[in-house]
Amino acid sequence: MSRSYRIAVLSGDGIGPEVMTEALRVLDAVEAKFGFTTTREERLVGGAAIDATGHPLPTETVASCEQSDGILFGSVGGPKWESLPPDIQPERGALLPIRKHFGLFANLRPGVCLPSLTHASPVKNELIPNGFNVLCVRELTGGVYFGQPKGREERDGEPVAFDTMIYRKSEIDRILRVAFTAAMGRGKRLVSVDKANVLATSVLWRETAVEVAKDFPEVELSHLYVDNAAMQLVRRPDSFDVLVTENLFGDILSDEMAMISGSLGMLPSASLGKQKEGGLYFGMYEPSGGSAPDIAGKGVANPIAQILSAAMLLRFSLGENEAASAIEAAVAKAIDDGFRTGDIATGAAGETKVGTTGMGDAVLARL
Ligand code: NAD
Repeated sequence: MSRSYRIAVLSGDGIGPEVMTEALRVLDAVEAKFGFTTTREERLVGGAAIDATGHPLPTETVASCEQSDGILFGSVGGPKWESLPPDIQPERGALLPIRKHFGLFANLRPGVCLPSLTHASPVKNELIPNGFNVLCVRELTGGVYFGQPKGREERDGEPVAFDTMIYRKSEIDRILRVAFTAAMGRGKRLVSVDKANVLATSVLWRETAVEVAKDFPEVELSHLYVDNAAMQLVRRPDSFDVLVTENLFGDILSDEMAMISGSLGMLPSASLGKQKEGGLYFGMYEPSGGSAPDIAGKGVANPIAQILSAAMLLRFSLGENEAASAIEAAVAKAIDDGFRTGDIATGAAGETKVGTTGMGDAVLARL
């Protein structure tokens, strides 16, 4: 019997719909090639949803996501909606509620710099002759961003503000298991990042990492303090395989990693919830960048981040690993063969400058 799945497709605003078109063409192609089908429900989100319904996340959109195996998300936001009250702005009013509603606690962001794109990385090229491929796993729903109490008050006649960094062992355990599982599917090396020389939460984090490692004997676990990790990422990014860390550290390190990778248009991301039976996750998959209003509607956006987000959905939510790997290989080949959208073009000999559709065509031709 043919394998079939449901996907909620939320293209959103700006370049979202343009790059989503390419990702869906690529999905069509791998479905035909690998013998599975997806039913896709396209729903409104972000500014487009505000314009149509007055709300960035209509209940109909949430209902469609609930019935799906995973969400393929474009991007939301733009100048048109920036003066709205914060709670109903596209990002805050759509992305955060989706994360909360579906308990998406694990954020996975690959930082990949392909060997033929090392010129786009601000890291000295002699340090990364073969590029690099790091996966950053960030805890997304705990830590200092959500810990209580937090607040501001007067003490001894001056304002004092405070936040609480708090983690339950179960929260640490579950994010580490996501990271170990991801490492098993890659190079089997995991670096756990903490600040165990100063923070109590980090001591619990490190203890838990050592415990969970016993269930993954094939994975080599090491530990780095976050300040050192930030340095090593720019000094030797190619030495990392998978990196796992708590919310605040992950927020900073994953942006650092995106920066050293070169172009936002190349980087996908996944936000995963609880693991289901069979090892798959419900998740939301989206480019690391935003809606790029400066280039929206021009047909020049790089669709690769969206295409690779679809590949992550296939791997983590549908278990279609072969199809996911085929997409990743086709993307790498298109880049190796010199196809470049504006964000990654240098004008060097051997490059073929393409727009959004042209890059989609180049990937499709290599599947
Ligand atoms: P951005 O990521 O949209 O753009 C930053 C720069 O990167 C721009 O120059 C843009 O042209 C470029 N860029 C991004 N994606 C690209 C691609 N696929 N191809 C080529 N170039 C690309 O960030 P911003 O300008 O800070 O934000 C713009 C809007 O997006 C804002 O409204 C912001 O709130 C929103 N945003 C949404 C998300 C999301 O939906 N998850 C994330 C970040 C920002």
